[in-house]
Amino acid sequence: MKQSKKKIAIIYTGGTIGMERSENGYTPSPNSLQQTLEGISDLRHPDMPEWSLLEFSPLLDSSNMAVHEWNKIGQAVANLYELYDGFVILHGTDTMAYSASALSFMLDGLAKPVIFTGSQIPLCELRSDGRDNIINSLIIAGSGRAREVCVYFNGVLLRGNRSTKQSSDHLLAFESPNYPHLAEAGIDLQYRDEALRQPGDAALNFLPFSEVPIGVIKVFPGIQFELFESIMTDKLKGVVLETFGAGNIPSYGGNLLPIIQKAYNSGTIVTVCSQCMQGTVSLGAYATSKALHDIGAVNGKDMTTEAALTKLYYLFSLGLPKEEIKEKMAQNLRGELTE
Ligand code: ASP
Repeated sequence: MKQSKKKIAIIYTGGTIGMERSENGYTPSPNSLQQTLEGISDLRHPDMPEWSLLEFSPLLDSSNMAVHEWNKIGQAVANLYELYDGFVILHGTDTMAYSASALSFMLDGLAKPVIFTGSQIPLCELRSDGRDNIINSLIIAGSGRAREVCVYFNGVLLRGNRSTKQSSDHLLAFESPNYPHLAEAGIDLQYRDEALRQPGDAALNFLPFSEVPIGVIKVFPGIQFELFESIMTDKLKGVVLETFGAGNIPSYGGNLLPIIQKAYNSGTIVTVCSQCMQGTVSLGAYATSKALHDIGAVNGKDMTTEAALTKLYYLFSLGLPKEEIKEKMAQNLRGELTE
């Protein structure tokens, strides 16, 4: 018996993929993507899933996206969840890894593919990478193999909350340095089954995020910590500290720790991540990181900054007590860290 075609919702949020030239450079162009997609005959190839397009208004450059837009995307997936077999989210590349990480947390119980993609060159240009990215994302969403939030770009399928934008001009714009590719598109689409998440039986539970005052501080040689004292108050609920190597901070001056200690004592959750693309934080491996451990900072292990930040939003939005948030920050919730 012939199987009925899978139905995929394409949700177009903005980004380079659908942009057109203007006097001010590339800009999102409302109500034109449907026609552009209809012009790509392969998208209606008999082997393609059925798809329909939902276009957001306004269309945004992803640099302008934050909590409100993550919630809007999550809400759209939740609303359409029973009607479609999978979702392709067309999104700007600049903050795609943040949005994909955010969605992975806010869509608890997700058991269908949600594939973020976009392009480095708009579809209106001859050499656009958007065409292949959309075709492969639709095929992947239709196959139902990767039932989690992913990023597909230039031949690789990545776990969304492990992904990071690695290049502003190469077509291979994303990588997941601490997690294997979920699939690779060579001559065949090769899935790595052992790397894919196995969803449970729970129903989808969409949790929109609240606006939570949190921040990211990148440590650098010569950092004058006292400049940050004014933001490290009890108003700051959480901070991701991007440290050197395996979680190290400079010990000179000795003025960072008292500031972090003060913030910690007043309830701020300090999560330690690394500036390195690859590898893990290991608090206490060096004297320069042991102090962070001693004042109760959370070991962010091999989480990306994008994952750590959006996980903070998620846990605060759940309204959990501080101690539980601290515990959960170091636990693997959606495949975002290696325990
Ligand atoms: N600035 C664009 C955006 O993130 C870049 C892109 O889409 O590639 O929306």
